[in-house]
Amino acid sequence: MIKGKVIKNYNGYYYIDLDLPESLVECRRRGKLKQKILVGDEVEITVLDNHTGVIEQLLPRRNEIRRPGLANIDQMVVIMAAQSPAPNRFLVDKMLMTCEYAGIHPHLCLNKCDLDRTIAVAYRDFYESCGYKTLIVSAQTGEGMDELLSLLPHKMTAFAGPSGVGKSSLLSRILGRNDLTIGCVSSKIQRGRHTTRHSEIMKLDYKTYVVDTPGFSSLEFEHLDPKELFCLFPDMIPYFGNCRFSSCLHRTEPDCSVTRAVAEGKIKKERYETYCKVLTTILERKR
Ligand code: GDP
Ligand code: ZN
Repeated sequence: MIKGKVIKNYNGYYYIDLDLPESLVECRRRGKLKQKILVGDEVEITVLDNHTGVIEQLLPRRNEIRRPGLANIDQMVVIMAAQSPAPNRFLVDKMLMTCEYAGIHPHLCLNKCDLDRTIAVAYRDFYESCGYKTLIVSAQTGEGMDELLSLLPHKMTAFAGPSGVGKSSLLSRILGRNDLTIGCVSSKIQRGRHTTRHSEIMKLDYKTYVVDTPGFSSLEFEHLDPKELFCLFPDMIPYFGNCRFSSCLHRTEPDCSVTRAVAEGKIKKERYETYCKVLTTILERKR
């Protein structure tokens, strides 16, 4: 059996990349294989002939997201525009939290810096000080593209962001810059309009994949445990644990080390506000 990666699922067929030149195999799955197979999954296949085969086994997943179904993402690039549409901290926070929840390392990318550099820099300063790598780019002028490309080798990188921020423009710049793409996957699997709701992995190079996440939606936080919620803010985690009450939710409780850190400016007020806002929706749902 041979190991490969599912890069597309269409009409009951799975397209498996064996990470060898010209090695895309069209597979059916073994009937006894009951688990759902996601794009991004690592599988073991038997190769039949003429680039066809059968999936025999699903290998363990490192992580997954539900919408769209995708597995084994090494990092997520959350894209926002510096202008049109204007960025929104609450939305950025929610997307970062969704990544944290899934165990996927997120970066932030401010596109359209040609339109408003001041906003892009303000976002970068803010989120870098929360511990998130933040890039400033322009798909239009090409600024920052080298730094973005330097994040990609030997990883599977997912791109997410609300519509209009320039996700497609950035992806086509990334793909257009890489000659290998043309002969490799993209010529065999065309990105058609009908596939926009599915995720399809594009291969740039050996072990280097990028994937769009159409409709990547924020987690429904209402179902989270309030204690779990706090863990989605890595920049705030160092400050909890010294609260007077072990059940502290860090709002109005006395002697709370989190609200103290907010007052002392060690935790950013805006991030804490996101926490409180989401916590309120969770508590309302539980009532
Ligand atoms: P998507 O919905 O996120 O895939 O966004 P698109 O890639 O379709 O881009 C939306 C619009 O923004 C298009 O009109 C692009 O030409 C424009 N756009 C994308 N990137 C940039 C950029 O860096 N600067 C400027 N000024 N416009 C951009
Ligand atoms: Zn507290």
